[in-house]
Amino acid sequence: MTVYAGPVFDMAVQQFDVIADHLSIPTDERERILMPKRSITVSCPVHRDDGSITVFEGYRVQHHLTLGPTKGGTRFAPSVDIGEVAALAIWMSWKCALVGLPYGGAKGGVRVDPGSMSMRELEGLSRRYMQEMIPFVGPRTDVMAPDMGTNEQVMAWFMDTYSMYQGNTVTEIVTGKPVSSGGTLGRREATGRGVAHLVRRVMNELDIVGGATAVVQGFGNVGSHAALELYNSGIKIIAVSDLTDALYDRNGLDIPALLRHAAAHGSIAGFSNQLRYDPAAILTLPCDVLIPAAIERVIDAHIAENLKCRVLAEGANGPTTPEADLILEKRQHEIFVIPDILCNSGGVVVSYFEWVQDLQQLFWEEDEVTRREYQILDRAFAQMIGRAKKDRIPHRTAAMAIGVEKVRAGKAMRGLFP
Ligand code: GLU
Repeated sequence: MTVYAGPVFDMAVQQFDVIADHLSIPTDERERILMPKRSITVSCPVHRDDGSITVFEGYRVQHHLTLGPTKGGTRFAPSVDIGEVAALAIWMSWKCALVGLPYGGAKGGVRVDPGSMSMRELEGLSRRYMQEMIPFVGPRTDVMAPDMGTNEQVMAWFMDTYSMYQGNTVTEIVTGKPVSSGGTLGRREATGRGVAHLVRRVMNELDIVGGATAVVQGFGNVGSHAALELYNSGIKIIAVSDLTDALYDRNGLDIPALLRHAAAHGSIAGFSNQLRYDPAAILTLPCDVLIPAAIERVIDAHIAENLKCRVLAEGANGPTTPEADLILEKRQHEIFVIPDILCNSGGVVVSYFEWVQDLQQLFWEEDEVTRREYQILDRAFAQMIGRAKKDRIPHRTAAMAIGVEKVRAGKAMRGLFP
């Protein structure tokens, strides 16, 4: 029993066990690779607009420090707990290792509904959370980034708070900042672009041409940019959902208009009454490409049995349960899975570019950022496919095995201290 126990952490453990069995990792080595190195819980008191004070619980989990600093987003959501954050930190480790970044995984979060706060309250919470984390983070220790419920503005507040305490501007303490505050061109779009790039590549390989359709669950930073990229490549986005609503149009939605609506109103709600659809049903719509880009565990065994897509491109972290994976393994000739740790890794890849640019104070053009992002994704994709074919294993097992192997090798070479 660990403090992390819960459905999401248990899922990360179950996934790891599959990999550890596949790699024949001895039992006494498994915990050392899997269990997080550090976890921090803080309470963040915030002055509310009505004069009262609310205390929010915040977390940060740093999975391993073997290959460099830890890296990962900070999530503001009502469902956040330490187990979920730990699982997300572990997935960040496999993701960073798979694509070859010199990082361990981390994740942070605050249990809060950011939509229920004013901008002033949100700023207070963001600043207090970072201030509580100062002893535990740093540009060479742990570098935060956005995740669900946080954005460039929150990253700017994090960076400013850390910098005020240091007495000088430390842009490299977080990534995903606004370009005007030391961010990089192409970071905002990076995750969605990466998803779309891999989707196009797989569509080419599967010979899916002409009139292709996609369904996108989640219209946050990842889902909206993936949808826009695919829309711009001529793919019809027939359904989209977010926390508030779902829309379906078999002729394809007007994604640029939907993006403008979401930017103005904060969600897709109210875009069209006519096109409203059952959010639970969009995952099983017939389509060429399904992109879950919201939260964990939305594709369970039942949904996996009923999927009618040809490509499952996991924009979210952990959208597919281990039980669903067993079904998808049986359906692997019908459904091509692009597993989360590869599919959404464009975000952390460009975060790495942002960190490098901040450390060097030398900034790149956007086309260089995107070209290098795609280069890294293509390399990791080829490695995953090669491994899956060689070992006759599902894509997720192959991707995770590559990640776990690198972390394991790093630990073995450095040895156990003291
Ligand atoms: N939160 C994102 C993820 O889950 C980005 C992390 C980062 O850029 O460090 O991959």
